[in-house]
Amino acid sequence: MRHRIAVVGSGPAGLTFARVLHRHGYGHAVTILERDSAPDARPPGGTLDLHAGLGQLALEKAGLTADFQALSRPEGQAMRILSPDGTVLRDWRPGPEERANPEIDRGQLRDLLLGPLDVRWGRGVTQVVPGARGGARIVFADGRQETYDLVVGADGASSRVRPAVSPVTPHYTGVTSVETSLDDVDRRHPDLARLIGDGSLAVYGVNRALVAQRNSGGHVKVYAQFRAPLDRQAADAGTETIRSSLLALFDGWAAPVLELLHHGTAFIRRPLYVLPVSHTWPHTPGVTLLGDAAHLMPPLGAGANLAMLEGAELAESLATDPDDLDDAVRAFEERMWARATRWAQLTTAGLERLVSPDPAQALALFDEVQPS
Ligand SMILES: Cc1cc2nc3c(=O)[nH]c(=O)nc-3n(C[C@H](O)[C@H](O)[C@H](O)COP(=O)(O)OP(=O)(O)OC[C@H]3O[C@@H](n4cnc5c(N)ncnc54)[C@H](O)[C@@H]3O)c2cc1C
Repeated sequence: MRHRIAVVGSGPAGLTFARVLHRHGYGHAVTILERDSAPDARPPGGTLDLHAGLGQLALEKAGLTADFQALSRPEGQAMRILSPDGTVLRDWRPGPEERANPEIDRGQLRDLLLGPLDVRWGRGVTQVVPGARGGARIVFADGRQETYDLVVGADGASSRVRPAVSPVTPHYTGVTSVETSLDDVDRRHPDLARLIGDGSLAVYGVNRALVAQRNSGGHVKVYAQFRAPLDRQAADAGTETIRSSLLALFDGWAAPVLELLHHGTAFIRRPLYVLPVSHTWPHTPGVTLLGDAAHLMPPLGAGANLAMLEGAELAESLATDPDDLDDAVRAFEERMWARATRWAQLTTAGLERLVSPDPAQALALFDEVQPS
């Protein structure tokens, strides 16, 4: 390939893009720029379920299906739903052949995609400026600049590449999620381990929900989600202050469920932001976006899947017709926008029902989407 391509961000979108180009023999053409100083510079986040027609398809395009099957946890698809008083409302377990949405730890997925790729760590991008005749110039945090034929913004929710093509910024959904975690749960908290089971446990109340998800190695991530006005000062609150406010918010819920908050370690507050449902932009030669940078949506199990499939598809189109860069990007964007709009509609409606004044909505949504 005669073009020089940079991808900004080594999340699921950027790495899948680079890995599929690598598989097609164009690894040399893409430079991966990542702000983090190393792959393990920060905790990788919770488990991801990869859907058969989305994330798993992307891994197939990268030639990584067998490796994924070896690492993933089909049993992690299990889902138990309780009412706030602790009554079991649903207890779904996957059959032995059920592989529609197996779980994989984010760190494992990252390492799988990284494989032979060469990432330039510690290369935070501050700005991208499209060229008058195509191509784009990247400005780095240290002031240095580089020019590429195509810059792919795969730099997530607070993308620094997005302003090169779109003035739109994410807005608050009205729902805040507070994340905490428990380690070595089978040994240290066996009762909680049994309550959570092999996959996820969810409890839905009025305008609030508690979700616990098992990761590998006995690690559990817990998400407390609730409707609340945006509170920027709360981001600075300490662990015990957040724990107490959550225990007050979930007061009256069954004691075993509240143990998830009593035993949680660090608490991270994440107000949930989204881009508008049909976020598009005027096609801009030299720059495009993938994943959350293009279509940040509520975290209901689609974002990483879409990011990966988009990365794979853009890479495939560039590899199939390496001379016609701009046409390939333009066609890709049309396809991405159409699919992302459908998922943004689904996940936006889903968040309304999962953190809702009527908890029966969450149960009804589960019954609609869960395989029988
Ligand atoms: C709690 C939670 C649970 C979720 N669960 C699921 C799930 O089960 N399934 C699912 O499909 N999705 C899930 N999602 C959504 C998923 O995490 C995102 O949609 C996905 O990570 C997006 O991938 P990305 O590559 O576009 O962006 P990111 O994963 O955000 O990666 C962006 C990368 O760019 C880097 N970067 C950022 N800025 C710069 C810069 N200026 N210069 C250079 N590098 C930069 C970052 O360090 C990062 O490595 C969940 C999200 C949350 C919050």
